[in-house]
Amino acid sequence: MCVTPTRKTISPPLYSLQLELTSRCNERCVHCYIPHDTKNVEMDTPFVFRIFEEYRDMGGQDLIISGGEPMLHSSFLEIVDKAAFYGFRINIFTNLTLLTNGMEMSLKTLNLKIVSASLYSVAPSVHDAITKLPGSCEKTKAALIRLSQVGVPVFICCPIMKQNKDSYPGVIQWAKSIDASFSYDPWIMARSDRTIDNLENRLTEDEALRVLETVLENDPGAWDKERFYPGYKNIDDVLPCVQNACSHSVYVNAAGLVLPSPAWNCVLGDLHIQTLSDIWQNSSAIKRLHTISLKDFPKCENCADIQFCGMSLEGNANENAKGDPLRIPPHICELARRTRLIVHNWHTKRAAYARNQ
Ligand code: SF4
Ligand code: SF4
Repeated sequence: MCVTPTRKTISPPLYSLQLELTSRCNERCVHCYIPHDTKNVEMDTPFVFRIFEEYRDMGGQDLIISGGEPMLHSSFLEIVDKAAFYGFRINIFTNLTLLTNGMEMSLKTLNLKIVSASLYSVAPSVHDAITKLPGSCEKTKAALIRLSQVGVPVFICCPIMKQNKDSYPGVIQWAKSIDASFSYDPWIMARSDRTIDNLENRLTEDEALRVLETVLENDPGAWDKERFYPGYKNIDDVLPCVQNACSHSVYVNAAGLVLPSPAWNCVLGDLHIQTLSDIWQNSSAIKRLHTISLKDFPKCENCADIQFCGMSLEGNANENAKGDPLRIPPHICELARRTRLIVHNWHTKRAAYARNQ
């Protein structure tokens, strides 16, 4: 039996919680925004259950269970089972290399919303060079197939970087063949401790824009139905990154610290000394985040490229030594400017093509 959460009158409501069960991971992905030397903390199971209970009492609905690699947690299945008991809509972020025989059936009975895994290439030489774990490509693919075959919804995320910039179309085809949903990200983020050497793997602007052009060529509806970036509408809008991170959701790391998102080391509270409800309703850091709007970015106010801009507070913070979320890295503006030109040219070509039919 599961318990359906009853929404409480907490304002603003907390709809989504991401929980890092453990920061430990069996992969060492070259682009990972979690510093590898901090991947050594695990949450106690009773502490996890306490957070679930508090979240349930606050009317919480969506729950992301992540890591590190969450299946490394010794009570992984027990924890997912408890989350299902509370009636949360569960999304598991995992590399799936540790899905043991029969686990797919256990997960099926828990009625998960989705299981999400990264697949960088269907070629083991490319995928494994990114994860630094030999055999990981075949294990991840086999686990995705097993889950899909028993009816667990699966989602494949494909961050695109230098190593897999030529092989991601193969991942799209493969995802379709197993009935998995798919998304890609051509712009990886600096590490949360502001060491930026993982960005050596990031695509250049030219390479990232070639990905966009390829996507538009292969899927004419891509820009209309799934914009790369949501765009901002007016000056008083809360920025999308804040909406995503803190308007209705928070992240809890394995040490019990509450953060806006996994990629941003901005501490909002500590669940070892505060309740989730107390942090959500009274944290001065959250209150401050809620006040940030376009007014804090004067150069953005009348920017022609704003609909094509991927600027985010966490991306800003991780790319400067002071961790200042309001300092925009210059390449963000150049990328937005060139994205607008590409999309504009593509619309012009498409309109001309339609006229000539
Ligand atoms: S599997 Fe995820 S957490 Fe582990 S190293 Fe790769 S990106 Fe980081
Ligand atoms: S492109 Fe630059 S100036 Fe324009 S909205 Fe984005 S960050 Fe602001």
